[in-house]
Amino acid sequence: MSEFASLVPRVQGVVLLPGQEGFEEERAGFQRALVHRPDVIVGAASARDVAAAVEFATVRGLPVAVQATGHGLSVAMDGGVLVSTRRMDGLRVDAPARTVRLEAGVRWEQVTAEAARHGLAPLSGSAPHVGAVSYVLGGGLPLLGRTHGYAADHVRALEVVTADARIRQVTPDSDPDLFWALLGGRDNFGIVTALDMALVPQSRLYGGGLYFDAPHAADVLDAWRRWTATVPDTMNSSLALMPVPDAPALPEPLRGRYVAHVRIAHTGGAEEGEALIAPLRAVAPRLLDTVAEMPYTASGSIHHDRKEPVAFASDDAMLSGLTASDVRTVLDTAGPGAPVPCIVELRHLGGALAYRKGSPNAVGHRDAQYMLFVLSPLVGPFTPEKVRPVHRALFDGLAPRTLGRFLNFMGSGENAGPEQVRSAYDADDHARLVRLKAVHDPSNTFRVNYNLEPGTP
Ligand SMILES: Cc1cc2nc3c(=O)[nH]c(=O)nc-3n(C[C@H](O)[C@H](O)[C@H](O)COP(=O)(O)OP(=O)(O)OC[C@H]3O[C@@H](n4cnc5c(N)ncnc54)[C@H](O)[C@@H]3O)c2cc1C
Repeated sequence: MSEFASLVPRVQGVVLLPGQEGFEEERAGFQRALVHRPDVIVGAASARDVAAAVEFATVRGLPVAVQATGHGLSVAMDGGVLVSTRRMDGLRVDAPARTVRLEAGVRWEQVTAEAARHGLAPLSGSAPHVGAVSYVLGGGLPLLGRTHGYAADHVRALEVVTADARIRQVTPDSDPDLFWALLGGRDNFGIVTALDMALVPQSRLYGGGLYFDAPHAADVLDAWRRWTATVPDTMNSSLALMPVPDAPALPEPLRGRYVAHVRIAHTGGAEEGEALIAPLRAVAPRLLDTVAEMPYTASGSIHHDRKEPVAFASDDAMLSGLTASDVRTVLDTAGPGAPVPCIVELRHLGGALAYRKGSPNAVGHRDAQYMLFVLSPLVGPFTPEKVRPVHRALFDGLAPRTLGRFLNFMGSGENAGPEQVRSAYDADDHARLVRLKAVHDPSNTFRVNYNLEPGTP
């Protein structure tokens, strides 16, 4: 029996070695630009399986990486133990307490469906198929963020396997430092096997998309920029500039066009929402307008994010503001005339996202007013070498407005370096995180990630 196969009797889930049936499928995620090359995959079925995997790795000095859906792969592992959490899909809503306990492999669409049965909603993001736990640990910028804050602000308790292979129940009272560090430090401090978080009483919202044709992109972007300065915290919105594939599955008026897509998620009534967005509707004729009252369970239709796996390069920036000249920079560098296809997204922040209320956490840049994100598919001639300079020109142009990055959208490869990781946190928080890393993971077992190297305790 190989050393790695000795894990088999200690694990209730599966143990997969390279070349074995199921290995390729288990390691493949949504992001296809990189793929983990572990010595062994532990397809964990429980927290005890995760603890067994961590113990096995630490005894041998091997790194441990963790994957749920593979939407947020930052660094590919080369040797070591990969913990796959997709089998850990338990979920329990406590309706009177308005909370949910969810395991590490749960996707948002599962939580949304279960919470809706009780008239509740989770603070999920744009894509229902994204993994809930990692999203929350990276901060979690929800569709309803201006109304309710970051998802991390609503976490009540975490179950985590730390580098000493212990399963710990962590609350702000039991272990304030570790609780704080996990919410923002993601897998630098352990593998979270389950978490408890609050739900919000939001069964319906007024939302959808306003789609405008390319010639109106500049006017729409500038109108949206000025409009965001006027709206209440009940209004959540973002704007995307993007080429739409000519695919039969997509709405006919959008196919093959370049569009400006304003996304709306208003938590007040439909009437108020309609009055608030009237100035946007008036900017130009719309190719398609899907904004209407909807159940929260349909909220994935607002952004209409792609579900099929793809190789992509992406990057982000947290911005202190957005001027008319910034809008020009966005259009000139990554708009319709960009040399590579770019999906550019601006999310309106502020409101409850700016408060440091709720659960203590390391989520940074609370004073940012917008988040800028760009994504380019790496297909055909569009290689990383072609794409990266275009992204760089966009972010260089916005440098005077840039406060740092947002962990969940930072991207992979060179974007996961130490300086980039540092820029995701406020300076004091980064210093505290590296001190805590030295306490909780001194050997840096959890290093295949946006790594915080253990610092001086
Ligand atoms: C289409 C799309 C839409 C998105 N929309 C939003 C959005 O609206 N708001 C937002 O904030 N983010 C959003 N994201 C980003 C997303 O939240 C992150 O990429 C998140 O990390 C994905 O988690 P995952 O489990 O799906 O992916 P994975 O790739 O499986 O996980 C990403 C990383 O998280 C860490 N991790 C995974 N599981 C655990 C665990 N149990 N314990 C500790 N660490 C773990 C690992 O480092 C892993 O590499 C979006 C991403 C995509 C691709």
